[in-house]
Amino acid sequence: MFDPNRVCFFDTTLRDGEQAAGVNLNVGEKLQIARQLEKMRVEVIEAGFPAASPGDFSCVQTIARELTKTTVCGLARTREGDIRAAAQALAQAEKPRLHVFIATSPIHMEYKLRLTPEEVLGEIRSGVSLARSLVEEVEFSGEDASRSNPEFLIKAFKVAVDSGATVLNIPDTVGYATPEEFYQFCRTVIEGVAAPTGVIFSVHAHNDLGLAAANSLAAVRAGVRQVEGTINGMGERGGNSAIEEVVMALRTREDFYGLTVGLDTKRLYPVSRLVARLSGVGVPPNKAVVGSNAFAHEAGIHQHGVMAKRETYEIMRAEDVGCEPAVMILGKHSGSHAFRARLESLGYNLDDQQLAKAFEIFKRLCDEKKEASDGDIEAIVADQIFSVTPEFHYELRDYTVHVGSGLAAAAVVLRLGDQELKDAATGNGPVDAAYRAIKRLIKIDPKLESFKITATSERSDALGEAHVVLSCQGLKALGHGASTDVIKASVRAYVNAVNRLYSVAAARDIRLNGRSGEKPLEGAETLGGI
Ligand code: MN
Repeated sequence: MFDPNRVCFFDTTLRDGEQAAGVNLNVGEKLQIARQLEKMRVEVIEAGFPAASPGDFSCVQTIARELTKTTVCGLARTREGDIRAAAQALAQAEKPRLHVFIATSPIHMEYKLRLTPEEVLGEIRSGVSLARSLVEEVEFSGEDASRSNPEFLIKAFKVAVDSGATVLNIPDTVGYATPEEFYQFCRTVIEGVAAPTGVIFSVHAHNDLGLAAANSLAAVRAGVRQVEGTINGMGERGGNSAIEEVVMALRTREDFYGLTVGLDTKRLYPVSRLVARLSGVGVPPNKAVVGSNAFAHEAGIHQHGVMAKRETYEIMRAEDVGCEPAVMILGKHSGSHAFRARLESLGYNLDDQQLAKAFEIFKRLCDEKKEASDGDIEAIVADQIFSVTPEFHYELRDYTVHVGSGLAAAAVVLRLGDQELKDAATGNGPVDAAYRAIKRLIKIDPKLESFKITATSERSDALGEAHVVLSCQGLKALGHGASTDVIKASVRAYVNAVNRLYSVAAARDIRLNGRSGEKPLEGAETLGGI
């Protein structure tokens, strides 16, 4: 089973990636991403931090129930409550893994944990032993490992192995490491632990200095066989190590690394688009591997070279990462089979009911415009299928705007349950006026953190897709909206973000009733991981 020449991938898009500012994925969206990661043959998915909130718990539980091939992992601190919550959330997983962490660096032990190194070793012993008594497979991480004393980290890992851990993770939590130094550090630790066969070492790098992929690869050279990362490198601050970059480096430079990977790289591009759209965190055009320009040659001399012989300037092919132009344009006359096939190739996996609804919306869209681009289809699915938040749902019924010189007015009609709510307001522009009208109707006063509109394709009949981030009482939520009318897309996105604020609050057992200026309620901050 254990192959020393194979590098496994551990995806933490749904846990560490989701810690990125302003990102809040609902259960349906997380499940959608998890299914695609499983199809891409990622070996492990970290689905969340069950003790962090009831919402996190239920996300891990749902994904654990659903996936059959991929290992599903839940994060926990060394404390008993965390470990029992994680084990319970993973109870129905086909392949569960419990991931226990505690900081091992002097600065974290002294100032954050206020524990002595001996006490930290005791925490590892009790935490990992308890985890191992509840779940077969246990991973241990020494948070801030890269700034830890290697002798102490070796001791910590030995305790973890003695207590039953079989995966030992070396996180560069704050993105401080540099490749040459980190290579040496990992070698020292791996040799020092001298773990029995079957125990594998793992790396978890952050991109604060733009070195996450380089550090991950340095660790692999040093003997690490599991790489942790996220799709698009999504994560807080500079983000996590981007899985697509590390896997393509190993694949493209197999001549140098001499290692194999099990990932289906043809799914990288669709998964990247899915994560970008559902999270609202876009991919820069020049992003390695999955950026829209990653395979576009501009310079004439390069184009000439590629036409004469591709390999003159191309080190990988767009089709190797699944970035291929649509062969078929969908339109008015397309049937549900073609529609379903297109959605699947775009990385979506809808159940029959969702598919029927999406198809109906697609048909309506085709009445407005003849053809639908991939971007149009992805935008309507993100808006109308995944964004729905049933617990507390304001629905946009109608709106009108009037724009004069220097002043705009908007009237908005919302529905909440069987109530119909109407109001009007003026503002600097139509979107501002509409948002002010909505604020008069809802019971909270959220702050607009960000607002952007993008076109789903380069054509003038593209849909406008709006992304709105709202905050209230320390919680943040992102809303999507898509329409051929950009004002409508903006209003839908705002209403969606309001609904999601309520969902996020419910998932954390927080009651929303305040004004945006109030200080965050207890429990509003997320628990950070490694
Ligand atoms: Mn991290």
